[in-house]
Amino acid sequence: MVSEAGTKIAVVGIGKIARDQHLPSIARSAEFELAAAVSRHGKVDGVDNYTDLETMLRERPDIPAVALCVPPVPRYAMAVAALRAGRHVLLEKPPGTTVGEVEALVELAREKNVTLFATWHSRFAPCVEPARRWLQGKAVRHIDIVWKEDVRRWHPGQAWIWEPGGFGVFDPGINALSILTAIVQPVFVTEATLKMPENRQTPIAANLLMSSLAGFRVTADFDWRQEGPQTWDIRIETEAGLLLLSEGGSRMSIDGHEQPSGLEAEYDGIYHRFAELLKAGESDVDLAPHRLVADAFLLGRKVDVEAFHE
Ligand code: NAP
Repeated sequence: MVSEAGTKIAVVGIGKIARDQHLPSIARSAEFELAAAVSRHGKVDGVDNYTDLETMLRERPDIPAVALCVPPVPRYAMAVAALRAGRHVLLEKPPGTTVGEVEALVELAREKNVTLFATWHSRFAPCVEPARRWLQGKAVRHIDIVWKEDVRRWHPGQAWIWEPGGFGVFDPGINALSILTAIVQPVFVTEATLKMPENRQTPIAANLLMSSLAGFRVTADFDWRQEGPQTWDIRIETEAGLLLLSEGGSRMSIDGHEQPSGLEAEYDGIYHRFAELLKAGESDVDLAPHRLVADAFLLGRKVDVEAFHE
């Protein structure tokens, strides 16, 4: 099943992220070979296309791995089908709708002795690991996250983001939380405000206050209504200076001095990590970012805001 061309993989859900990132990264990877695509409407040239996952799993026992690039709501049932069929599974972020269903998938992957990889693409941004290393042994005083983008630009026509299980502004916000939970000690939510358009089921903006055992506090300001320049910043004040991670973790400065950064290759990093996990026979499922979002919904004070229209 691992040929010269790499492990055969099927991509499921040929939509925005599959086309923008997964297919190009797999095409560049020596560790994977795209063997099939599964999508009701989307098609990929040059490989077998299926419109449903069960058929692909039945007809293609030669494909040991699948990447699930569908929105969170349909993902659990697909992951169960793939894991039960003995396939290794890569999950786009967020790994599911609820923390509980992802924990169930972890259990199933263990039973079936296959790899489950819950990806957090922002953790593969070039400055995240350097930031984590720089912060080691330094006392953090305060962290401010500002994650503001234009929903019309990044999610054109996507209805699922506004439905229960679609996460609303936490769909991008969880990327910031995935970086946060990768670089500092555990934090937990203490207050949340969820700004809900009166015609939608999920928030268009949110403010969180988090705290940590170490005593530092974290604020997060998520907003989907930002036009013009987009902001994806994490500002970390420490006893040893100010670390600013900007552009979603692609740039980093310390006390205003820009630090060298590597090339942007988040999804190449994801597929390389997936190959490592397959080789080691391990899974990688970190639910810390997902838990923060779930807790924000548990504690959240809802505020009605203007209706959102495309
Ligand atoms: P999308 O384009 O709306 O959806 C991907 C594909 O999933 C759709 O084209 C659709 O293809 C299929 N699908 C299957 N069941 C579906 C259902 N019940 N509702 C809607 N689509 C369904 O979404 P996306 O932007 O690629 O996002 C997919 C996942 O990737 C999300 O979890 C998101 O957070 C994550 N992600 C997105 C981005 C981004 O920039 N958009 C970036 C990073 C991560 P068929 O109709 O052909 O079946």
